[in-house]
Amino acid sequence: MFESLKKKFSETVGKITEKVSSGQEPRSEEDKSEDRGPEPIPEGKPEEEVRTEEPDDTSSEEPAPDAGEGGSGFLSFFREKRITEKDVDDVLWDLEMALLESDVALEVAEKITTELKEELVGRKVKRSTEISEYTMEALKKAVKDVLSVDGVDLPQLVEKKKPLVIMFVGINGTGKTTTIAKVARYFMKKGLEPVIAAADTFRAGAIEQIGQHADKLGVKLISHRKGADPAAVAFDAVSHAKAQGKDVVLIDTAGRMQTNVNLMDEMAKIKRVVRPDLIVFVGDALTGNDAIEQAARFDEAVGIDAVILTKADADARGGAALSIGYMIKRPIIFMGIGQGYDDIMEFKPEWMVEQLFA
Ligand code: GDP
Repeated sequence: MFESLKKKFSETVGKITEKVSSGQEPRSEEDKSEDRGPEPIPEGKPEEEVRTEEPDDTSSEEPAPDAGEGGSGFLSFFREKRITEKDVDDVLWDLEMALLESDVALEVAEKITTELKEELVGRKVKRSTEISEYTMEALKKAVKDVLSVDGVDLPQLVEKKKPLVIMFVGINGTGKTTTIAKVARYFMKKGLEPVIAAADTFRAGAIEQIGQHADKLGVKLISHRKGADPAAVAFDAVSHAKAQGKDVVLIDTAGRMQTNVNLMDEMAKIKRVVRPDLIVFVGDALTGNDAIEQAARFDEAVGIDAVILTKADADARGGAALSIGYMIKRPIIFMGIGQGYDDIMEFKPEWMVEQLFA
């Protein structure tokens, strides 16, 4: 999963470490004198009185062990150094290009490289291990920042509202139907009872397909015939849930091309009729920037609250996963990680950071 991003991040840390280490200049006599450390405390004065000021960075730093005794040893060229723009510019440019190749959105690629540059340039470092650790932490932070999008607390929502009505939107083939089945299972495992609305009445196959999932899971399906009003199906499912005390209504919807005006009108009508608590866009991680484009279209038409990205298990690039939340300002709530009903996981930025820097 996300092998391409993982490789690029690791290469970036390596290249910056190498560049900064190799750019270290020989120490001058003046520099060596810095190794003396803070001035000795004059005798007779209480310690507190003397420490009126925090020592600055330079004087508070231990001399680098590589520098040997007093810095005059054979490895004395390994002195403290400030990272400059020149050290990182080429590497960051390469990183930006690599991110774009991995389908990371331009804005996100720029944000990560800019943030990394701000963290690094001007920073004083001593040893290559320190450079590498610091670069890695700065990169992790930049990545976590783009992934952290506030929004939906699903466990809290489902506790507050009964039935919780969730409408799923997205184009055909992204894994929407399978995802609805997975989400039904997720709620069932929490002891909650879902009902599914087969509101993709455009294709007879769609009603059948979601019906098969519902049967396998033992979930009640509300459906009408092909061509029926999708909003009416959704309305019936919500009425059923209210009457039967069910906890969650999961509404499947049609997914013709997102540019289809009728489709967007249809989505808007379902929204108007059932007033869902949550509209979730389902996108295929493998489609990269297309997934972001689709999400933006649905957001424009009906307003989405959250994202589920499918097929992350097969996604070597990782660009959509890294970018979509930041680009549309909505959180990813789940990720599909396989074809089975249990192959879904709640999305946490920390998890993704771990995958990328493992
Ligand atoms: P829909 O047309 O959007 O409803 O898509 P489907 O639910 O029919 O899924 C399309 C294909 O994607 C099916 O073969 C699913 O098994 C597969 N699929 C869905 N989610 C995932 C996932 O998270 N990982 C993988 N590897 N395949 C998935």
